[in-house]
Amino acid sequence: MAVFLIVNDDGYFSPGINALREALKPLGRVVVVAPDRNLSGVGHSLTFTKPLTMRKIDTDFYTVIDGTPADCVHLGYRVILEGKKPDLVLSGINEGPNLGEDITYSGTVSGAMEGRILGIPSVAFSVFGKGSIMFDEVAKVCVDIVKKVLENGLPEDTYLNVNIPNLRYEEIKGYMITRQGKRAYKERVFKYLDPYGNPFYWIAAEEFGWHAEEGTDYWAVMNGFVSITPLDLDLTNHRAMKELKFLEKFL
Ligand code: MN
Repeated sequence: MAVFLIVNDDGYFSPGINALREALKPLGRVVVVAPDRNLSGVGHSLTFTKPLTMRKIDTDFYTVIDGTPADCVHLGYRVILEGKKPDLVLSGINEGPNLGEDITYSGTVSGAMEGRILGIPSVAFSVFGKGSIMFDEVAKVCVDIVKKVLENGLPEDTYLNVNIPNLRYEEIKGYMITRQGKRAYKERVFKYLDPYGNPFYWIAAEEFGWHAEEGTDYWAVMNGFVSITPLDLDLTNHRAMKELKFLEKFL
């Protein structure tokens, strides 16, 4: 029987993680360990400076108080699964897309990255869409992908960033291997005044915006395809290594 460890960055109460949990139950044991609140944008942060506590919600369903997605992977793997590797670490389903450079801020993608660092094949799931999200439809796509990854495995050090359009399962045009796109930034710092006249600031995305080059994650979801971007733990810019030879010096 397959064992899945599910985390997210939207919190244990989010409809996305619960849809994924329910959809995977027929496939095996589903262990959920998720933050107690929405931590979208927390990135790959791991908590070293304070103790963490876990609360049991239900059978194989836990929340980490004030814990990040990476913390949840650690506690799920080391504590709940007692150091026994699950077949897959799955992160999401995130409410909103994780495309282009978003993945560096994304707690969802970081959950999968953390799983991969621990040597476990991992997949991050996000939905591209706003407003009313059809999580049960999106979860069907997740199950498809989970089955195929269980069957075929993933290349070494590879984890997947999957973005799924908010469409009915029958309306999806296909599944496409894509590359990470580039974001056309639409983020702003908003300035307000508090009741005492002191300024405070709020960083917020104004709207989705990416360069829609063909073959990218953004292009795929814009055109009704599921985008599957393979990510590598190696962040080295291999192309630049030769170009930067001028910096090299041996004493
Ligand atoms: Mn999120």
